Amino acid sequence: MAPRFTYDGGAVDPGEIANIRFTVSETYLGDPVRIPVTIINGERDGPTLCLTAAAHGDELNGIEIVREVAHEWDHSALRGTLICLPVLNVPGFIAQQRYLPIYDRDLNRSFPGDGSSTSAKRIAARVFRNFIEPCDIGLDFHTSTRGRSNMLHVRGDMEDPSVARVANAFASNVIIASEGPSGSLRREASEAGTSTITIELGEAHRFQRPLIDSALEGVLSVMAEFGLLETETIKWPGWRTIIDGSDEKTWLRADAGGLVEMHHDRGSLVEAGDRVCTITNPFKTDVTVVEAPFTGLLIGVPENPLVYPGNPLCHLVALDGPTLRAFRQSQSQPVDRV
Ligand SMILES: [Zn+2]
Repeated sequence: MAPRFTYDGGAVDPGEIANIRFTVSETYLGDPVRIPVTIINGERDGPTLCLTAAAHGDELNGIEIVREVAHEWDHSALRGTLICLPVLNVPGFIAQQRYLPIYDRDLNRSFPGDGSSTSAKRIAARVFRNFIEPCDIGLDFHTSTRGRSNMLHVRGDMEDPSVARVANAFASNVIIASEGPSGSLRREASEAGTSTITIELGEAHRFQRPLIDSALEGVLSVMAEFGLLETETIKWPGWRTIIDGSDEKTWLRADAGGLVEMHHDRGSLVEAGDRVCTITNPFKTDVTVVEAPFTGLLIGVPENPLVYPGNPLCHLVALDGPTLRAFRQSQSQPVDRV
């Protein structure tokens, strides 16, 4: 029999599902600031998996992923416990902005939090102690910042074997290996024993159905890998590249102000010397061509076409020879996961 899941103010018995609004702070009026939490405690014992989204308040794709897992999936065969936190940063979500509105604090640099420090760290501490730290595994969903879009990819500390196991199980084509910035949920959670990865997909302010569907497959695959669902299988993405510090990757930046026209889509391969995009002035008389410095994959592209000199345009990562061949092969097949 599975154990009860307890949090500050309540408990959820095995076989029960609880939808709660959990107080993390107070407004200027003294009213509670509450975040939605769904706890699904399986009848049978197993690992505890935490799904989090909207630590940045305008990043919406993850919200739909977490809601769908919590409220549309059948949990009768679940082994273990699912903790679903679809909107971590409620004040930012209400304002539709990335940061906590008070002093523009980044909630995703405030973990593990501190109950006697700033408002951001107090919120982080309430979330972390009650719902993150008690878990074995964490999946934290993000999108690119406003005006940009990311190919679906995973970020995690691949030098930590238990984090690498989660990252591999999510079955994305691209994994960026890094432990993450200090104060980020995935780094602090992983250090506290909750092996956590970040999943990046798409852009802010949108629900992007194909990306959401791919990420949901990743969640199922992680649940299969760790035995939360015995009926599902662990997926293989067809090809995979793990980008670490030694691999070639770069941000292509604008050398001119103007309007950007992209010549390739998010997730596509560009050859060294290819025209990735052009920047033009209002008269289309000045044309600045941005070329790929090496052959690689466009994992981040602009959605907003307006740039100043120095603005980032595209995030380009190199693929090694075998990966390049596997990628090209996948492109000739009808289904891919970009
Ligand atoms: Zn984010």
